[in-house]
Amino acid sequence: MQLSREKAEVRALVEETRRRGASVGLVPTMGYLHEGHLSLVRRARQENDYVVLSIFVNPTQFGPGEDLERYPRDLERDLELAEQAGVDLVFAPAAEEMYAPDHRTWVEVEELTRGLCGRSRPGHFRGVTTVVTKLFGICRPDRAYFGQKDAQQALVIRRMTRDLDLGAEVVVAPIVREADGLALSSRNVYLSEEERRAAPMLQRALCEAEVAVRAGERDAEAVRDQVRRRIEGVPGARVDYVELVSTQTLQSVERITGEVLLAVAVFFGKTRLIDNVIIDLR
Ligand code: AMP
Repeated sequence: MQLSREKAEVRALVEETRRRGASVGLVPTMGYLHEGHLSLVRRARQENDYVVLSIFVNPTQFGPGEDLERYPRDLERDLELAEQAGVDLVFAPAAEEMYAPDHRTWVEVEELTRGLCGRSRPGHFRGVTTVVTKLFGICRPDRAYFGQKDAQQALVIRRMTRDLDLGAEVVVAPIVREADGLALSSRNVYLSEEERRAAPMLQRALCEAEVAVRAGERDAEAVRDQVRRRIEGVPGARVDYVELVSTQTLQSVERITGEVLLAVAVFFGKTRLIDNVIIDLR
């Protein structure tokens, strides 16, 4: 496994690989790797000849007052895990390597970024889509791998890739969870013991809502209410949003039909966790 901190070197390594006829899979991450990330790497390993893992805590997707400075980092451990999972090349640039001081170009996906995390975190998706476009430009992947954990992000990137003809196939992989149901996240390390014990409630609330829908509930507001009440009953939890939206448009629905996304964002203290479930009634 190789490690590079330079765009030009990564570009050259990937180009050389590509000239040999190898296919390239890219797994973009912010590091502090866990099984969620590694499930993406394994999938990429199965489907490509050459696997690039990027590790970059992208400053442009963090808002003022968010956790950019304290975001957990452990490159040494990440490199071990990446090597074990079969990564060929780790790209771990510094912020100054990624962004020139006079960087002035941004990629924005309209509409899909308006609600959900886009509403709570203004500018977040502009940072995400810009950095992913840059990573695609540097690594020229045949396939790029994202987690369903960040459901809105996956949709936004798929749309961006199509709209801008970026040429990569966007692969979205299922959410990996702890045994008690908590979705794996690098941010879970922020949780106090008490918060950690309470956090699996997110998934339980989503599952209960899915059960209600499968039993015939079609009123989206009733489902949102049920989830909101359940989460607000958890000591220390503060709802950021509970949304039930179309998986195509991410617009809020009134009646539940076809395929919908039930997504939540919840604060435990200063830590903001997200989770979701897709309910497919087709
Ligand atoms: P992050 O490092 O949090 O930016 O995540 C990098 C990629 O891993 C994103 O595509 C995430 O959606 C994905 N990911 C993060 N957590 C999970 C999880 N628990 N299950 C599946 N994918 C995940």
